[in-house]
Formats: sequence, structure tokens, C-alpha cells
Amino acid sequence: MSATLPAGTPARPLRVAVIGAGPAGVYAADILTKSEAVTSGALTVSIDLFDRYPAPYGLIRYGVAPDHPRIKGIVNALHKVLDRGDIRFFGNVDFGTDLTLADLRTHYDAVIFATGAIKDADLNIPGIDLAGSFGGADFVSWYDGHPDVPREWPLEAKEIAVIGNGNVALDVARILSKHADDLLVTEIPDNVYAGLKASPVTDVHVFGRRGPAQVKFTPLELRELSHSKDVDIVLYAEDFEFDEASDEAIQSNNQIKTMVGTLTNWIAEQPEDLSELTASRRLHLHFLHSPVEVYDDASAPGTVAGIRFERTELDGTGNARGTGEFVDYPVQAVYRAIGYFGSALPEVDFDHSKGVIPNDGGRVLDAGGTHVPGLYATGWIKRGPVGLIGHTKGDALETITLLLEDRETLPAAPAPASDAVVALLEERGTDFTTWEGWLALDAHERDLGGRAADAGLRRERIKVVPRDEMVEISRGGVTAQV
Ligand code: NAP
Repeated sequence: MSATLPAGTPARPLRVAVIGAGPAGVYAADILTKSEAVTSGALTVSIDLFDRYPAPYGLIRYGVAPDHPRIKGIVNALHKVLDRGDIRFFGNVDFGTDLTLADLRTHYDAVIFATGAIKDADLNIPGIDLAGSFGGADFVSWYDGHPDVPREWPLEAKEIAVIGNGNVALDVARILSKHADDLLVTEIPDNVYAGLKASPVTDVHVFGRRGPAQVKFTPLELRELSHSKDVDIVLYAEDFEFDEASDEAIQSNNQIKTMVGTLTNWIAEQPEDLSELTASRRLHLHFLHSPVEVYDDASAPGTVAGIRFERTELDGTGNARGTGEFVDYPVQAVYRAIGYFGSALPEVDFDHSKGVIPNDGGRVLDAGGTHVPGLYATGWIKRGPVGLIGHTKGDALETITLLLEDRETLPAAPAPASDAVVALLEERGTDFTTWEGWLALDAHERDLGGRAADAGLRRERIKVVPRDEMVEISRGGVTAQV
């Protein structure tokens, strides 16, 4: 049994490690520093924020579509938190290899896991592994310049199917259908621009398995589809089915009401004869289609040649059931965007069916359902990949409240000195990056963007993609400032 922190005001700061520097981790760290216990002077805290990537911001940097600049407001808020200097950032540090749980136990009184969910949920239908079938989250990682995905993405399909009716499906469909030149004002890396520019795509089909009143995306994101230049939206009258639950949802949920209104207006304005559409690309929105099989054909065995759906109908409760009618769409690529899924962490119990760390309000549980002292979770790895970025704040508040409730019984770290962990990383040869390093990389990326202005195009930033380049720029002359 390890020693516990003495009751009352501790003689030294409470040492907390946060694993994951996305919004969930930064919010948790920020909320802890602003807690009454800390602001009243009853408690002092020393917080280190670790991330496996050399740069902070997690899914904001590697999950938000580049043409969503309003998200920048969130980045600015996170920047302000980390720029205060009371939370240390260590990037390029992998939990489980560069730092183990035992290391964290040695140096910190509490550990908060905020590792999110970055992988695609599985879709278990025949043919999902054919060449030309992709995970939407992987594609997002590619267009967002994630350092651990290949730089090249095969964009050879003229007709593409996107499965899912959430915001990721819309992001994927929008980026696939948009003309690359219209993305050139964003921070997309050069390889992404070149890949999209060469894409021969003409038609992107998005498929929801339920009806227009059961979509998971949000009104702004839906409306945004109509802003893509030279891309016509196409809808199908036979997909507009509403059951009792749909009517109820339309009455009681403003977002659903708005989206059904938008879709209904679009279909009303659409020419009856689709050949009258003039854009060079089309984005089709289909509802009541449940994916059954991705298929190949004799001309190219092993490669996507199309996708089969079973038509569905609403069952009165807002759920859909199969009608026994099947329909095929010849497409050369399939993207599944049916949700993210969390990844297990070394030495921490994991719920493989939900993709989360088992927890009770953020207190990490062991296989027997008992709280593991000193371990906490927050964000998508705590509650699953649902909700907008802002929702993560409430989550962090709950987790931090419990951590503070537990603080007098936390297992006290035997080596709590704040420079010991730096020495350990250095001794292991980990090329960790720091906040000052991020400022250097940030300035570098902005500079790259500024230089594009000389070529007549103002870009706020161009992302640096390769990990070694990110690390090199971040560590250039700034290794001794921690
Ligand atoms: P999501 O919102 O959960 O949507 C998943 C979609 O996949 C749903 O339409 C779901 O249909 C469908 N689906 C699930 N399993 C399926 C299956 N076996 N076959 C066919 N369809 C299936 O997930 P997400 O799009 O990954 O988004 C995750 C979170 O991030 C959401 O909260 C989202 O709003 C947020 N996000 C926001 C933005 C933004 O721009 N604001 C961008 C990206 C992500 P059912 O409803 O029938 O289950």
C-alpha cells in the first residue's frame, strides 16, 4: 500500500500528469488550475501535459476540416491556457514507450487520460477490406497532415460512396467533392492540395441508414455543403420518409427541424430533370440505405467496383428496418464515416466493446469495477466519441471535481520533483518538444503561409507534416528552456 498525501494543505504541489494535449486534456488541466482549492491557496498544483505528437491540440489539429476556420477560436482559447506558463507541455512523448505507467506513478500523484478517439469504428460487411475502401478518420488524418499516415492518398475514383450521416461523413464528402483550388486558402499541406487537385471525382454519394429526421450532423455543417463552388447537391424524393418519431423530433428538436427544413427546401428547388444540373461535380444525399456489401468485379478483382445497400423504412420509433429491396451503386471508392473508436492504452483496463477506459464519472476502474487510485479519464476516451468540442468541458469539470474530492487519499508520488521527469526523458533519449518548441513550429508554419502570399495567395499557415521535421523545428535551439 503506497503512502498517501498528508491531510490538509500539502507541503508540496500536487503533481498531475495529463496524457493527451487535445481539448479534453487542456480543459482538464485548465479547470484544475482554476479550481477553488487552487485559487483559494489551499492547494498548489504542478501539471504536465503530454502528447504523442510533437504539436498540441489533438483532434483540433488532426480532426477538424481545414475549411472550418471558426474552430480557430477554440485554438486561440487553448493557446491562451498553455501560454500562461503554469502548465508544462511535453510533445512527442508516447505513453507506454517513452513513459510508462510506472514512471508516471513515480513522478505524479495523479494521472488523467485524455487520449480521445482517433480510429474508425469497424463496419463488418463483406468487402470492406477491398482496395479502395477507406476509413473516414484515416482520410481526415491525411488531409489534416497527420504525421503518422502516408503522404499519398489514392484519389482515382470518379464515383465515391460515403457511409454515415454524421459530421465526419459531411466533412469527408465535402473535402472529396470540393475543388482543390477552393481549399488553397486554408492550411492544407502541399501534398494534400496536389492530391485533391488531381482527383477525377464527379459524384460523391452520402448514405444514411435512417431518414432525414434521424441525421446526426448539425445544421451549420449541412448548410455549408451548399457553399461549395461548382458542386450541385442532389436529393431523392423517395428518401423523404417521416414516421411518428420523426414528427416528434421535428417538433421538439430545433436542430432537426432546421435540417429537415433545409433538405426539404433543397429538394423543392432541384430541377425535376437532373440533367439540367450544371455543376461539374455532384454531392448526393441518400437516406434509408443500409450498407450490405462492398463488391469487386471480374475486371479488377480485389478492388472496389460498387456498393450494395438494403433499402430501409422507418419503424415508427425513428429506427429503420430492412425492406428486402437491394440496390447497387457502381463506385470506385468507399469511405465509412460511422463514428470514431478509442484505442486501448498500455497497462490500463479497456472496454473493447465501447472503446473507452472503464470509469465512474472519470475515476478509472479496474476489471473488478474498483477505482484505481490516482487514475482518471476525461473526454472521448471517458465517454465515447460523441458531442462537439465544447461538451468536453463539462466532462473535464466532472473528472477534476472527483480528483479533488480524492486528493487526500491519492497515492503520493515517491519522486515528485518537477525536473526529475525531464531528466528521465533526456536519459531515455526522447526528443520531446515543449511549449516554446510549439511556438517555434507555429511561427514557422505561419511563415510558410505568409510566403505563399508572394505567389498571390494569402494563407494563414501551411502545416508541416513529417514528424521528424516537426520535431527538428520545435527543438531547434529550444531544448533547454523547461
Ligand atoms: P456520429 O455523429 O456518431 O455519426 C455516425 C453516423 O454513422 C450516424 O449517422 C450513424 O447512423 C452512422 N452509422 C453508425 N453505424 C452504422 C452502420 N453500421 N451502418 C451505417 N451507418 C452507420 O459520428 P461522427 O460523424 O464520427 O462524429 C463524431 C462527433 O464529432 C460528433 O459529435 C460530431 O458532431 C463531431 N464532429 C463535429 C464536426 C463539426 O464540424 N462540427 C466535425 C466532425 C465531427 P445512426 O444514427 O443510424 O446510428
